[in-house]
Amino acid sequence: MHNDNPTWGGILPVHEDQYWFSPDTRVLVEECGVFGIHAPKEDVARQTFFGLYTLQHRGQESAGIAVSDGNQITSHRKMGLVSQVFTEQDLASFEGIAAIGHTRYSTTGSSNVENAQPVVMDTDLGRIAMGHNGNLVNAAELRREMADSDLHFEGNTDSELIAFMVANGPGTSIEDRIKNIIPRLQGSFSLVFLTANSVIAVRDELGNRPLCLGRYEGAWLVSSESCAFEAIDASFERDLLAGEILVLDDAGPRTISKDAHGPTALCVFEYIYFARPDSVIEGSNLHEVRQRLGASLAIEHPITADVVIGVPDSATAAAIGYSNASGIPYGEGLVKSRYIGRTFIQPDNRLRKLGIKMKLNTLSSITKDKRVIVVDDSIVRGNTTRAIVELLRTSGQAAEVHVRISSPPMRWPCFYGIDIQRPDELIANSMSVEEICHNLGADSLGYLSLNSLIEATQLQDSQLCTGCLTRNYPIPVQLEMDKLVLERPDSNVANNPDVRTSIQPTLGE
Ligand code: SF4
Repeated sequence: MHNDNPTWGGILPVHEDQYWFSPDTRVLVEECGVFGIHAPKEDVARQTFFGLYTLQHRGQESAGIAVSDGNQITSHRKMGLVSQVFTEQDLASFEGIAAIGHTRYSTTGSSNVENAQPVVMDTDLGRIAMGHNGNLVNAAELRREMADSDLHFEGNTDSELIAFMVANGPGTSIEDRIKNIIPRLQGSFSLVFLTANSVIAVRDELGNRPLCLGRYEGAWLVSSESCAFEAIDASFERDLLAGEILVLDDAGPRTISKDAHGPTALCVFEYIYFARPDSVIEGSNLHEVRQRLGASLAIEHPITADVVIGVPDSATAAAIGYSNASGIPYGEGLVKSRYIGRTFIQPDNRLRKLGIKMKLNTLSSITKDKRVIVVDDSIVRGNTTRAIVELLRTSGQAAEVHVRISSPPMRWPCFYGIDIQRPDELIANSMSVEEICHNLGADSLGYLSLNSLIEATQLQDSQLCTGCLTRNYPIPVQLEMDKLVLERPDSNVANNPDVRTSIQPTLGE
């Protein structure tokens, strides 16, 4: 039985870092995955399940699938991993011609089941469902405009707001309404809509989050990342253009937007960390890009050492690139507990104190008495990196630990869907590289330069967002956006001095 009013099932959502690290530890977290398929001859629910399974890295708080049988849309969404949310029975009872799916990490709104997606909404044109990857920067303003209406919001996300705007927007078809409301949205959004007989995919005019089109015999699919296509034996066709609105229905894919173009602010962290290494974005395989990052890092920050290791999994490719370029052997000095993931079982206090050890073990046969170069993709607060340095010195018995980061220092918040909202959450905002090195307890520290990062993506800097590295944001953001912005009794944050940010991001500064 599927329901549109899911319940907790006795599970409390808590952020992973609250479980496994000290309370002030922060790691970068992905920002949702979306998937859609129109395939009248396929088991669309099962295909969507496997697509979401592949996109699990983009969000582990909740998952959901909505299916249309050509008339009715039903959905199922719950807190938890994709494998925890759906049973064989759930999938077997879903029959349809089209489906969309979503994996969520909360960037606006609390982590609770009311905010799980797809959002399902009844309209005068029939029921629709929608999944969103990204973050609106004008959500509070839009919500304020709707405050006088008698609309009832079930959750408190910017995603629900978008669905409301489409449901109540001007136009005689859902396609028209989407076209009409999109220009009002500011920020980052890759969207998938489900109507009775179509999937409609939308990429924002910056192209901030990836979204691509795939094909499987008579079926057409869209996904946040191309890795989802391979998992179900579909082929990658192309990236959606920035600003593109693409309809998938019986007539095949058709673009209904007029002014689609290449990305002007694709998140550079998709290349560094977020996307899976087997995905292709804007023509580049992510594993190869990360190897190039590591190779440039070796050229920019050479050091005499015995072994290069990577922090698994996202920095492995960069470590291999560093090793190849430097001639220093690569070794797997850190082993990740792969299945720990985001668990809903609280560790007891003794286990909590073990912190990073719950996630990573050292292989001392690789690191003992060695001068070790450890490559990671980024440093947020520094607590995780500090713990890794200590782990390598103690359990790993390394003689020296040299930290190399395959991105420039992250100094500024992200307003477009990554859960880093305040400068004081970032160690590089207040410390020099030397101070950070001392703080981490490392023997040396080197960050990749911005030029080398951009070069490795094979895009121009005018095509990328580097806001958290450079403070040059693609759209001016006047406010400190926090994820609960729509939950306050008065969400009129624009007039609330308490939430004004201490920085004023500007264009092209
Ligand atoms: S500010 Fe940073 S994390 Fe956010 S979209 Fe831009 S590059 Fe990505």
